[in-house]
Amino acid sequence: MVMYQAGRTTKYPELPPEEGFRYHYLGGGDEVGNVGIMLEDTKATKLLLDYGLAPTDPPRYPNEAPPVKDAVITHSHIDHLGMAPWLCANHRTRLHGTALTAEISHAMWNDCHKVSRIEGYPLAWDKRDIETALNLWNIHDFDKPWIHHNWNLTLRRAGHIPGAAMLEIETDNKSILMTGDFDTRDHPLTKGAEPRNVDTVFVEGTYGGRNHPNLDEEVKRFTERIVEVVDRGGTALVPAFANGRTQDIVMRLHKYLPEMDVHVNGMGKHIAKLQMEHPESLRNPQELEEAWRWAKKISSKSDRNKALNADVIVSTSGMLDGGPALWFLNRLRHDMKNAVLFTGYQARDSGGRNLLEKGRLPIFGNMTDVPLELDQFSFSTHAGHDEIVKFIQECKAEEVVLYHTDPNHARPHLVEELEELNFKVHSPVNGVSGILS
Ligand SMILES: [Zn+2]
Ligand SMILES: [Zn+2]
Repeated sequence: MVMYQAGRTTKYPELPPEEGFRYHYLGGGDEVGNVGIMLEDTKATKLLLDYGLAPTDPPRYPNEAPPVKDAVITHSHIDHLGMAPWLCANHRTRLHGTALTAEISHAMWNDCHKVSRIEGYPLAWDKRDIETALNLWNIHDFDKPWIHHNWNLTLRRAGHIPGAAMLEIETDNKSILMTGDFDTRDHPLTKGAEPRNVDTVFVEGTYGGRNHPNLDEEVKRFTERIVEVVDRGGTALVPAFANGRTQDIVMRLHKYLPEMDVHVNGMGKHIAKLQMEHPESLRNPQELEEAWRWAKKISSKSDRNKALNADVIVSTSGMLDGGPALWFLNRLRHDMKNAVLFTGYQARDSGGRNLLEKGRLPIFGNMTDVPLELDQFSFSTHAGHDEIVKFIQECKAEEVVLYHTDPNHARPHLVEELEELNFKVHSPVNGVSGILS
């Protein structure tokens, strides 16, 4: 077991900082995902921001959190809330977030628990801890401040996925914005994040050094490719993550290819239902409702068989590491008229990456050749390099903390440009405290 015992392995300093404002990355400082950030001022007011895990094989966990009464959870992706049940079970930490994030957390924790059992890796928490965590949610609306000791806390829209929040903190002598995962561009589900006027920005740098292709052109390339596949009598399999990507893709298909026969499967169906119950979290609730009514939801074996003749199948998992997408792929792989269209980045060692690089991937435990046409599209909802820099400039911040980023390939590009622009830049390292000036 890689697990820690409460209070035994935490290396977080016992005393508050003597001066300034302390940040301490338990995880997510010099890596993407796996986030946990402790913040504390000289009066010992403290807060944890996010507590996730990295769903790699085997998973990575952040360092053990110290006892902390309150945690703000920015959004419902597993790399930001995967370890919250441990926190709640061991420290009875209150979780703060939007209503939709709280609702979706249940599905994400259940799924994480299920996957850990299937793949046989240990988790630090069990099913009962999910119930404990669900009881500890404190719901906050966007733009409605609340008081946390001598700080004022406010959630601001982050783009990225519905319910995702940035956290604005006003302390006695400093204002801070923590972006969580964010995007300033509009997507079908979400409106872009807007800058806030603050002293310090903690910003995610997933896409440091990389810019996204123009979104309209990417949508055009995607829909044209689908038309090609369908015109030759094939089915396009579109692997997509459940929480955000699946619904964005279905909405785009509804808008640009309304004549197509589109079927959707996986946990994305449940997430869509929760999103529609929280219209306040959506850019255009009616568009999601219409798109969702239009798409055929797969819920039985016979639905699955029917979908094999569809024009498009949108299904989890987004990286072909499991989920119904593999069942479809196994059937579709024999007919060269079919194609697999990826909607985003495929992580190293994922099924999708194997397929792209070697033309084969594990299906139900067997390495299987898939000679189908493949294509990859960029529908990420993280800000690209230029959006990150522009956002920081518009926040008029003096100090920047660059986290949730690859320290070798992504962050140096951002550090270089931001220092040229005279920002004071922090490059946090997990397990090492830093002080804001
Ligand atoms: Zn993330
Ligand atoms: Zn995310």
